[in-house]
This record gives sequence, C-alpha cells and structure tokens, in this order.
Amino acid sequence: MASCTSVNPFFEEWDTPYGIPPYDKIKVSDYLPALKEGMKRQNAKIEEILSCCEAPTFDNTIVPLENSGELLSKVEGVLFNVSETDRSDELDAVVEEALPLLSAHTDAISFNKRLYARIADVMEREYEDLDREQQMVLKDLCESFVREGVNLPEAVQDTLKEINAQMALLTQKIGNNILAESNAFKEEFGFSVSAYPDMMTSTEDRELRRRYNEFYTSRGHRGNDNDNTALVLEVMRLRIRRAQILGYATPAAYELADKMAGTPETVDAFLTPIMQAALRSAGRELKDMQAVMDADIQAGLLPEGSTIQPWDWWYYAEKVRKARYDLDEEQTKPYFQIDSVVKGMFLAANKLYGVKAEKLSGVPVYNPEVTTYRIIDSDGSLAGIFTTDYFPRSSKRGGAWMNNVREQYVTPAGEDVRPIIVNVGNLHETLSVDEIQTVFHEFGHALHGLLTRCHYASVSGTSVKRDYVEMLSQFNENWAFQPELLAEYARNAEGEVIPAELVARINNALKFNQGFMTTELCAASILDMKWHELTEIPDEALSDPAAWIDAFEKKVCDEMGLIPEIAPRYRTTYFNHIFSSGYNAGYYGYLWAEVLDKDAFSFFEARPEVFDKELATRFKETFLQKGGSEEPMVLYESFAGRKPDQKAFLRARGLE
Ligand SMILES: [Zn+2]
Repeated sequence: MASCTSVNPFFEEWDTPYGIPPYDKIKVSDYLPALKEGMKRQNAKIEEILSCCEAPTFDNTIVPLENSGELLSKVEGVLFNVSETDRSDELDAVVEEALPLLSAHTDAISFNKRLYARIADVMEREYEDLDREQQMVLKDLCESFVREGVNLPEAVQDTLKEINAQMALLTQKIGNNILAESNAFKEEFGFSVSAYPDMMTSTEDRELRRRYNEFYTSRGHRGNDNDNTALVLEVMRLRIRRAQILGYATPAAYELADKMAGTPETVDAFLTPIMQAALRSAGRELKDMQAVMDADIQAGLLPEGSTIQPWDWWYYAEKVRKARYDLDEEQTKPYFQIDSVVKGMFLAANKLYGVKAEKLSGVPVYNPEVTTYRIIDSDGSLAGIFTTDYFPRSSKRGGAWMNNVREQYVTPAGEDVRPIIVNVGNLHETLSVDEIQTVFHEFGHALHGLLTRCHYASVSGTSVKRDYVEMLSQFNENWAFQPELLAEYARNAEGEVIPAELVARINNALKFNQGFMTTELCAASILDMKWHELTEIPDEALSDPAAWIDAFEKKVCDEMGLIPEIAPRYRTTYFNHIFSSGYNAGYYGYLWAEVLDKDAFSFFEARPEVFDKELATRFKETFLQKGGSEEPMVLYESFAGRKPDQKAFLRARGLE
C-alpha cells in the first residue's frame, strides 16, 4: 500500500557517508519510477541544449549532455549491481520491464538528428582548440552517433529501434537461462559451476566426472525451459541484420570498428599463431597425462585401451602437476585464507602506487556479506569507495567481475565526484592459485576505476575500449605470486609464512597446463569471432536450432584444429560474455590485452626490484589515471617507447 510519507530514495540527496547508495532504504518498487523520471529529466536537459540559441560549443552542448543523465546513472548504478549480485523474482521483473524502456530511451537520443547536428557542429569548429580529454569525449560521441545510425532515414531507424529492443530482451533472457542452468547444475551435484575445475581435479570416480562434464558442457542446450539454442540464433539474426543496415558486412566488422584491433581480419590473424602455439603445448601435455593414465591401466585401475577424455583432463593434469612440479594445492591453500589474500592485494597496490585501504563500518550495504573500504590515494586524497562481495549465493550470477556503482567525474562546479566500485566473486574461504589470480584481476579493474583522474564520466576509469580494458586487470595479476609480496601476506592459521620452496614451486607451476588453458581460451575467442563473422543464419537453421548449432560448432572447432580432448572454454549456449554481457566479437580481448600486459610487465622484470616505484608511478600516470582520455595505443607507446611485442606473452605462458 502506498503511503504518502514514503519517499523514493532516488529522488533525494544521499546524505550517507561518501554518498554510498542507501541500500537499506531502497525498495524494489522504487526502481522503475526513478528510472522513468531519470529518462524524463534527461530528455528535458536535451531539449534545453537544443533550444539554446547560441552557436553550439563544447560548454553549452557537450558538457550539459555529459551531465544530462545524472539521475538515470544513479538508478542504473544501483539496479544493475544488485540485479547481478542479489537477484529475486521481483527484481528480475523490474529489469525485464526496464530494459526495453532504456533501450528505447537510448535509441531516441542516438537517433536525434538535431542533437547530432549540434555535436557535429562543435566537432567541426572547436575540436582543434579543445584539450586532449575533451577531444576524445567529442570524437567518441560523434562516432557513436554515426555507429548507431543517426544519418539513416527515419523508417530505417525505426527498424533499428525494434531490433535493439528485441536484442535487449533476448540477451537478458539468455543470461537468466544460463544462471538457471547453473543453479540446476548445483542442485544436481551439490556444488556450484564455479567449483567445476576443482571438482574435476579432485573427483576420482571417472563416471562421475563424465557426468559433471556432460551437464556442464550442455548447459542451455538440454531442451528444457532454460534452453538457449533458439534464442542464440534469434540474437545472431538480429545482430547480422543490424550490422548490415549500418553498412557493415558482419556483426564482427561492426563491433571491431571502434576497438583497438580495428578489423576482424586483424583479430583472426592475431589468434591463429596463438592457437597453433597453444595446441602444440596441449599436445605435449596430453602425452604426459596419457603416460600417467597408462600407469593406472597397468595397475588395473582402468580398462585396457583407455585414453584421456575431456573429463579426464583436469584430473590427470593435477597428477602430472604433483609429479612434475611437486605442487599440491592442498599444501598451498592453508596459506591463502581470503583475508590474507585481500591484504596482499592491498599491499601490492600500496607498494606500487602508494594506495591505502581503510575498512569502513556502519555504511549502507546491499547484502550483509559485503565489506566496504575507502581507498586513499598517494597524495592523501580519497580515491573512491571499494566494496568486496566474494562469496557465492544462489542470487548471484557465476564468475567474477567489477562493477561501477558510481563513475568518477568532475561537476561543472568543479567538484571531483569519486567512484564507488564493487568487486564480485564466487570464491572459497581458502583460495586456489587460480582464485588468487581472480582476486588480483578484479582489483586491477577496481584500481583502473579508483585511480582515474578524468573530468568526464564518458571517458573516466574503465570506460575504455573493450580490447584494452583487460590489460589493467591482467597486469595486476602479475604481482600476486612475487616472492617478496608472498613473504608478507601468505600466512597459515598458525601465522607461519609460506616456505620459500613452496613459493618457487607455485611460480614454476604457473606455466603448467598453459597449453590447455590457452587452447580453451583461444578456442572460445575463435568461436566468438566465427559466430559474428556470419553473414546470415539460414531459415532451415531455425527448424532445428540445436542441431544447427552443434554442426556449426563442430565445423568451427575442426577448422581451428581443436583436439577432441579440449572444448572451448565456453560453448555457445552458456557463453554469457558474448550473448549476454557485451563481449560479442570481443572475447579475444583477454588475449589481446594479455599481450599488452605481459609486455608492459617485462619492463618491471628488467628492473633490479620488480616493485619499482618509479616505473609503477609512470604506469599509474600513463594508464590508471587516464581512462579513455587518450587512444590506448598512444598510451602504450608512450609507456613502452615502442609497439607491443608478443614475446613476453608467449614466454609467460610457456608457449615459446
Ligand atoms: Zn576482467
């Protein structure tokens, strides 16, 4: 029942500490009215810009446009954080209703010819006189209007609007189905999909492993209510149609046009040699594992003629690891309690960038499991607010990610609004090597968001090209296992520091199984590209989507030379990144960015001390503070003094 005293918190100034959203006061019923009001206010601001009778300038057009979505961002920041970490049926319903509205709203702005005319006018007359960040804001803005189709006739724009609205719903549905399938997996086996690698490693019963693998790799493809096969084809049809309307041969060509890589051909040429190197390594790994399996056969544990199958890979890889690298994760885990790892993560940032983290208590939280910090920059100023949400819940989607609840920007009055950033994971209390890397990875994104020193939200923090954004997160993983850092953070319950020889074994083992890891990652990247390089989905595909997808995947995998013992890291029907999270024709970005990250890190390795403060400061000023206020390749070359080189990447993965 509506009460006349209840106020929608989104319409008020938040007098909470640091302007953290008053999660405790926000009700599910507050989102939609606030979103609608936010859209209304943005439209009114745009009308104001258009009715300005002075000649268009950066200050009277671009700046007010940048700030026109203030309320909308405030609502979206909270809604899309909570809907992924703490979903409920009511919240899902809100998101389902909101998405088409938001999509229509964004379209109305993108297709506003009068607005674009003013922006193009500013571009024409003022571009040369602007500072570099303003130039990037303006250039990105102009390009995005053209990319969305502002110059097309209205009837064509109407078609695009329809396509956009349908795509928004379909991708949301695909994401929900993947979550439902992952929950079904957990119900069936009693552990979550994020524990899949662990369970595949430790489960001795081969038949059980086969069942885990069968379910895991058929998620979204089981002919039940959560089936994604038809939805995926539907989305691909729409993406192809949209790209072609916008003047591109394929969705990949469209997506790549505003990325660092530029074209699908560049990406394909980039992935091919990596795949070949990875497959060569994987072939060697397979031989090593088969040797262990043969010993099991001789011991009578397996029938004669048994060979490594996809469900054996993790299990036998671990046996090889124990034998060859003498590393048993059960030995290392006691030193990596999550609290210690978080301490180490903060410590690395302190050593490098002078950043400090202070735990906050009594601030509003969206779930009692989260922890909130304030992050202080090296000059003593507030960098931003940082929340960690590391443990699995059935209301949380799988995987790990960073989210911006509030972007950094400077208000027209000169106030520097600092960001609010969340790191989300599905981790254990004691972490595996892989999970430690995840923690450092997501904190790399967080640092990119927290240390930003920009003026405009559209280019601040992680608002950068998608094939560049992972460079900063992956770069941060490099610190996790540095011996001098481990000596400070890796302690067991008795307070003992991890022994040096165990550290050496961890670092040695980091190169282990990289043939497999790189192969499955590269295979998923290629699968993504091949989907988005399609020029049509034939009608007959729709009569049996499952069969068509199977045949398509098989053809793509055969062409890339994938061996049957390895599946792409994600198969089509649970490839959340490309069908629900905006990484379409972009999954290669992880590898692309890793080449940059490993190459940049090689400069640190060349120093006498790897934690080199001078170099770290330069890294911070060149990359972490700059956001998207400069072209990434320009930033990279200014740091490295040359173009990026693949050698360090291949060396780090042991693929030379
Ligand atoms: Zn990432």
